[in-house]
Amino acid sequence: MAAQETVEHKYVYDFAEGNKDLKDLLGGKGANLAEMTNLGLPVPPGFTITTEACKAYLTTGREPDGLAAQIEAHLESLEREMGRKLGDPQDPLLVSVRSGAKFSMPGMMETVLNVGLNDRSVVGLSAQAGGNDRFAWDSYRRLIQMFGKTVCEVPGEEFEHALDDAKRAKGTQNDLDLDADDLRGLVDAYKKIFAKHTGREFPQEPREQLDLAIRAVFESWNAERAVVYRRQERIPADLGTAVNVVAMVFGNLGADSGTGVAFTRDPGSGAQGIYGDYLANAQGEDVVAGIRNTVQLQELEQIDKKSYDELLDYMARLEEHYKDLCDIEFTIERGKLWMLQTRVGKRTAAAAFVIAGQLVDEGLIDLDEALHRVNGAQLAQLMFPRFRLDHEFQPVAKGIGASPGAASGKVVFTSARAVELAAEGESVILVRRETNPDDLNGMIAAKGILTSRGGKTSHAAVVARGMGKTCVSGADELDVNVPAKKFIVAGQTVNEGDVVSIDGTTGKVYLGEVPVMPSEVVQYFEGSLDPEHIDNPLVRAVHRIMTHADAKRRLLVRTNADTGADAARARRFGAEGIGLCRTEHMFLGDRRELVERLILASTDEEREAALAALLPLQREDFIDIFREMDGLPVTVRLIDPPLHEFLPPLEQLAVNVAVAQERGEDVAKEEALLAAVRRMHEENPMLGLRGVRLGLVIPGLFAMQVRAIAEAAVEVTRSGGSACPEIMVPLVGAVQELETVRAEAEKIIAEVVGDSGVEVLIGTMIEVPRAALTAGQIAEAAQFFSFGTNDLTQMGWGFSRDDVEGAFFWRYLELGIFGISPFESIDREGVGRLVRIAAEEGRAARPGLKLGVCGEHGGDPDSVHFFHEVGLDYVSCSPFRVPVARLEAGRAAITTTGSDSR
Ligand code: PEP
Ligand code: MG
Repeated sequence: MAAQETVEHKYVYDFAEGNKDLKDLLGGKGANLAEMTNLGLPVPPGFTITTEACKAYLTTGREPDGLAAQIEAHLESLEREMGRKLGDPQDPLLVSVRSGAKFSMPGMMETVLNVGLNDRSVVGLSAQAGGNDRFAWDSYRRLIQMFGKTVCEVPGEEFEHALDDAKRAKGTQNDLDLDADDLRGLVDAYKKIFAKHTGREFPQEPREQLDLAIRAVFESWNAERAVVYRRQERIPADLGTAVNVVAMVFGNLGADSGTGVAFTRDPGSGAQGIYGDYLANAQGEDVVAGIRNTVQLQELEQIDKKSYDELLDYMARLEEHYKDLCDIEFTIERGKLWMLQTRVGKRTAAAAFVIAGQLVDEGLIDLDEALHRVNGAQLAQLMFPRFRLDHEFQPVAKGIGASPGAASGKVVFTSARAVELAAEGESVILVRRETNPDDLNGMIAAKGILTSRGGKTSHAAVVARGMGKTCVSGADELDVNVPAKKFIVAGQTVNEGDVVSIDGTTGKVYLGEVPVMPSEVVQYFEGSLDPEHIDNPLVRAVHRIMTHADAKRRLLVRTNADTGADAARARRFGAEGIGLCRTEHMFLGDRRELVERLILASTDEEREAALAALLPLQREDFIDIFREMDGLPVTVRLIDPPLHEFLPPLEQLAVNVAVAQERGEDVAKEEALLAAVRRMHEENPMLGLRGVRLGLVIPGLFAMQVRAIAEAAVEVTRSGGSACPEIMVPLVGAVQELETVRAEAEKIIAEVVGDSGVEVLIGTMIEVPRAALTAGQIAEAAQFFSFGTNDLTQMGWGFSRDDVEGAFFWRYLELGIFGISPFESIDREGVGRLVRIAAEEGRAARPGLKLGVCGEHGGDPDSVHFFHEVGLDYVSCSPFRVPVARLEAGRAAITTTGSDSR
């Protein structure tokens, strides 16, 4: 018998052991460090502790068995490779401890640098750096500060104040003027702060520093800002973070050292070229924090040509390898280039399309892959309007266009105030000197973000781009005074509450509200830009990818439209018919009075007169729509309003009657109306007399509509057009309801249509859970189903459509009961299951039954993928979302893994 082997769970991977496909286990950073290591790029040696170790720690509150020993073994091998020991007093190895989750969460979790420094190894570090005492003490004070703040929760301001005191004592404002003695003094001050807040001395034992730092990174997965960010970005909460332990390299060893960020293409526009920032004599965090102003990466060519050429070579290799835009963090330590991180870079919506198109041209990817790399949310963003600028509007400042779009709103200076005003329905622009992760809630609440410092890679820029939020960063003409709630620009003071407009594409800042104009992408969809002849790479890329999506998709895309104008617009956007024409909208305005007469009629004659007056009006409505949708199917839904929408409000009527009575006026008519309104008053109108119920209760109402539809179709067809009407019965819960309506409708249709050649289908909405569950029976009487996922969600969850989102959804989102409102994106497990059951049982009863969806979900990217999977024939959505649905339907057809292209 074979000996029993206990295979120890592997929690630690050397960089050489991993690869880019192990992101689940090693996180994005760890997996890509491994990939670069294996490509032979100069990555400082190190190892990655897996997300599984983090998850085990977070569940049990302690490190899993075996982890400590594995860290020890990997540390020893790192020490061997470096020829140095962690914290050795003579020649110390120092390491950085960095978080790295599967999905990038910029700045949301913790990092500790310079681990291994203590009172003795600081001397060894100085020797290593050629007797550079200043550098060694600066590194030590950075360690105490970062370690104190992230591992032991010492308030960061205390360290900031001590640093300010040291600079004041020296009579300077610049950190670089502090010499070794000043920094040694600062280390003492920091140690006292540390001891005061933690009740213990700063740990001198390097391995203890390392273990505590690793634990702090694990715990930072659950830090509040990380939780908020994940919710916003829809990143699952149970992934955990990996931890990377990497040999330190230093960009702050003098003028021949530095650190930077590089992009292989412009993440803003997608243009080819070299983009990035470089900061001499600095550590990496200084660049990302946007605290000091950087120079453009191209200037590195003058500063250090050898490193620059080497970097360009690696950038080209990485792009070739990843076949995508890469972003890179690097450090130069005394003329030697080190690659600290790479990943497939975040980009704006425009850049996503442009780059996908370029990569196809370059032969690096095919069109399917290009389609996979963009998504409907990005396309929707490109359809946003832009500022309409004429000479009236002169910018008062220009910063960096960090995240595109046009946003106007009231200026606020704190995250809390942004949240407060946004909750009151105001548009706000969050203005800060620079943002930090604590500003996240305010950034989510704001329409746009404006900072006076920082570049394209500052926190504000990275986070805003990720959220698709307009952002201008580094507008350094702004003198921002947060405590005084104002900023000064071009001699003018802008106070909290004043309106500004920011253009995230050009970086320009305007006072007041600038009007907006439609996007080029919308102009293209509307047919006023010819993609073949326009010198606009974005429009060309959108055209190309949309054409491919259309060729690939199985789902048809229709639109929800109830006027000829909407139908025409949707058709230009690519709609292949109307999936929902809501006829109740045709009964409002000056027709309201006729409807009132109809509902309140006390004799057959009165009712018939009202219907006879409505018939020609309805017929004209349908003629208009059928003409615009010539040759394409038009689903007309019979009237479905809650009754109260047509009647005067009860309270107002009661007051009017009382006042008139008081004055002794003749109120017989008003009293009759009031009595009728009282009689028909409903506590729950959404669950009351609406839809098919109304049609069964008011004789002749549905018959009038059916007649108007049929007559309109015949007229359009006789005049040379082609009308394809589909009559849809709303709110059906039982097949008997449908059968009753259908029997009457068929008679009228046969009578009207005669030999005109017009064909009229009769089908039903599936929007009551009972209908979904009895779909097999209902299909016997229906020529098509269209899922009304708004009502299906309302009735599936028991959530009032009109009330719950404002009332308590915020709490449900906070508690993670759902990650997104089920009215916005289909609840696959619950409401989606009803759709699935109805689709299967409907088609089992009637093979080939035509299936569509016309609730709001028909234009939601994730939901489109679901409807594709369930096998519907079409989705129907508002005109503006038609292109988004076309794109996502194409993406759904080439992938089985949801709509995410993160
Ligand atoms: C629905 O319920 O999803 C639907 C499309 O109908 P309405 O929104 O008009 O109730
Ligand atoms: Mg409905």
